[in-house]
Amino acid sequence: MKTVIVGGVAGGMSAATRLRRLDANADIVVFERGEHVSYANCGLPYHLGGVISDRKDLLLQTPEGLGGRFGLDVRIRTEVLSIDRERRTVRVRDLDRATEYDESWDVLVLSPGAAPIVPDLPGIEGALPLRTVTDADRVVTAMRGQRPRTAAVIGGGFIGLEVAENLTRRGLAVSVVELDRQVLAPLDPEMAAGVHAQLRAHGVTLCLGTGPAKVLADAVELTDGRLIDAELVLLAIGVRPEVGLARTAGLAVGSRGGIVVDASMRTRGERSVQWHQLDNLLHAGTTLIDVRTPAEHHAGHIPGSINIPLDELRGRLDELPAGDLVVYCQVGQRAHTAAALVGDPVRVANLDGGYLTWLAGSASRTDTPSSAARPTRSRQGNASTG
Ligand SMILES: Cc1cc2nc3c(=O)[nH]c(=O)nc-3n(C[C@H](O)[C@H](O)[C@H](O)COP(=O)(O)OP(=O)(O)OC[C@H]3O[C@@H](n4cnc5c(N)ncnc54)[C@H](O)[C@@H]3O)c2cc1C
Repeated sequence: MKTVIVGGVAGGMSAATRLRRLDANADIVVFERGEHVSYANCGLPYHLGGVISDRKDLLLQTPEGLGGRFGLDVRIRTEVLSIDRERRTVRVRDLDRATEYDESWDVLVLSPGAAPIVPDLPGIEGALPLRTVTDADRVVTAMRGQRPRTAAVIGGGFIGLEVAENLTRRGLAVSVVELDRQVLAPLDPEMAAGVHAQLRAHGVTLCLGTGPAKVLADAVELTDGRLIDAELVLLAIGVRPEVGLARTAGLAVGSRGGIVVDASMRTRGERSVQWHQLDNLLHAGTTLIDVRTPAEHHAGHIPGSINIPLDELRGRLDELPAGDLVVYCQVGQRAHTAAALVGDPVRVANLDGGYLTWLAGSASRTDTPSSAARPTRSRQGNASTG
């Protein structure tokens, strides 16, 4: 049995070592795009502050160590580009050698984690995220090279405050910029007030209810017009799940942006329905959406369907009725994209083979096009009754 794991930090490496404990002979390959595996993200802010002074203490394991102790084949600087679910292979790229190859799997584990959210603002390239050891190295290099005396931390969540604590420890004058009226959103306001008092007691300036508008060379301009001194700018406004790989492999992605899994953490492919199931589904209250163009819809469509063209769907999602949906197009391709846009695989299914398959299937029932299969005309955006 061969298991391939995408991502070699907390999730991926825990899966790999657990698998080894369960099966001494399993073939386990871990692909990690970055330079390090199994490192202590939680220690990164404290490395900036010098509490964890030795960088080596952040690196819990190396590919060689994991190979020796657990018999894991760990390949860093190797990115998984795509998944072929039919052939059970992944396409990978060796980032240092600039070569690509296929790797087969019996079981594929996805643990791609998340990437920092970077707002689209003028000068944002001057702000540093703190997600990886490489990010921490950049901040340390900036502190050593530029010797900043002032810093702005954008984001007053847990990581932002840990960074503020540690930059203060380094002697920098730190401002925390937080869009909300308080730091640490999960806390009740009266609890947050205590945190505010502590931060101020340690010399931290709080800029609450405001956000960054522009990052300048040695300052940050805020949306309320204030300018705060910041020779160093750290970005800590949260992360977004890395789902590009899963999405292009046709795996379901949920409305909150994560990979959809069942109670056993198994992914789900897009749900599809067959043409002959449609009558029963419509009878049970499912709404049918035709995502083709108005001209295609006008030329012939499945009775009862609402026409919302794919190119308009993103802006008209709030028009979708509650309950189950089936989306269709001519052959299934555009409806696949539409299902991903709706983003709720439990609720939405793609009509397999689209309108043409439904038309052929309906005709085959009587050998001549049935009345139901006859092209039906309706106005765009309205449920047709014919
Ligand atoms: C500064 C900081 C402090 C934190 N402090 C705490 C704390 O105190 N307590 C706590 O519980 N949590 C803390 N966390 C959160 C914790 O570190 C994360 O929850 C944890 O790292 C998530 O692990 P993961 O393996 O799911 O994802 P990640 O750590 O994001 O790892 C996923 C890896 O997958 C790789 N990858 C993605 N796509 C591909 C691909 N296509 N091919 C190959 N590789 C790929 C990425 O390069 C990445 O290295 C902190 C995080 C940070 C950044």
